[in-house]
Amino acid sequence: MIVLLKPNPDKAQLDSLIKWLESKGVEIHPTVGTTQTILGLVGDTSHLDIDLISALDIVAGVRRVQEPYKNANRKFHPDDTVIKVGNTVIGGGNLTLIAGPCSVESEEQICAIAQKVKESGATLLRGGAFKPRTSPYSFQGLRDEGLKLLSVAKKLTGLPIVTEIMDIAHLDSFDDVDVIQVGARNMQNFELLKALGNTRKPILLKRGLSSTYEELLMSAEYIMAGGNNNVILCERGIRSFETYTRNTLDISAIPVLKQLSHLPVIIDPSHASGKSALVAPLACAAVAAGADGLIIEVHNDPEHALCDGPQSIRPEAFDALVKKLGRISSAVKG
Ligand code: PEP
Ligand code: MN
Repeated sequence: MIVLLKPNPDKAQLDSLIKWLESKGVEIHPTVGTTQTILGLVGDTSHLDIDLISALDIVAGVRRVQEPYKNANRKFHPDDTVIKVGNTVIGGGNLTLIAGPCSVESEEQICAIAQKVKESGATLLRGGAFKPRTSPYSFQGLRDEGLKLLSVAKKLTGLPIVTEIMDIAHLDSFDDVDVIQVGARNMQNFELLKALGNTRKPILLKRGLSSTYEELLMSAEYIMAGGNNNVILCERGIRSFETYTRNTLDISAIPVLKQLSHLPVIIDPSHASGKSALVAPLACAAVAAGADGLIIEVHNDPEHALCDGPQSIRPEAFDALVKKLGRISSAVKG
């Protein structure tokens, strides 16, 4: 970190700033010019508050030269993180397919869809039990009953399950859940992230609607700081000026996040587009750009789905898409 001082800083204030920074465990290397003085800070500066230092009377500006995330940073962990879930692995050159309905609606529904997506090649089953809905009058999910039905579908198919957590208080009910999803709206629910950091369950962390890459990686850092390194990053579309699609899929997230971090990056083309007809082309683009996997909403009766029907694809469409993705994946690897 570099701290640029205003011209002719007050000596007492400068000494006290240096003392204070040293007490935080960083080494200070001052460069004194005729008009400008610069402090080079060496050591772990991740815990220093940039805004606080910038606000000091004698400080003209502060610049970070190193990213504030350590555990998620590829610089300190050059190899890809590979996360094992049941018989499947996420990351490290594998293409992981997670599929299932937006919400668990009934035993028949989740079991039928689970069997279908498994036959097509999905290796994890998704399904929401606790649903973050914009309106309190919309279907809120089957909650605990939904978790039980996911376990039934898991037992039937052997597919590990991925489902969203919305409240720390529910964590005890997530014992049989294999991958815990943190939804876009909760990406910065720091207490929730800390609680998940104390578990050792894989966490699928979705990017917030208007979050930067650094904010997403700092949220991953919250989980990893607790000792849970099993984090999967998920780009699910961000808010832009475009209203034709539900969100705007940020394809750049794939190469950028993979460059900045060693964590697996997966794409959710369903929430990114909001339209079933766009799911396949976006999924193909994601695989071509190097995504480690996809999470796709599949429903056997989208017209009557209780949540996100318009963006859900049918099992037959998922089957055709998986075949295409296999070809794209081989072409990219080749
Ligand atoms: C979901 O996966 O069903 C969901 C609500 O996702 P997001 O948090 O990305 O909106
Ligand atoms: Mn959904």
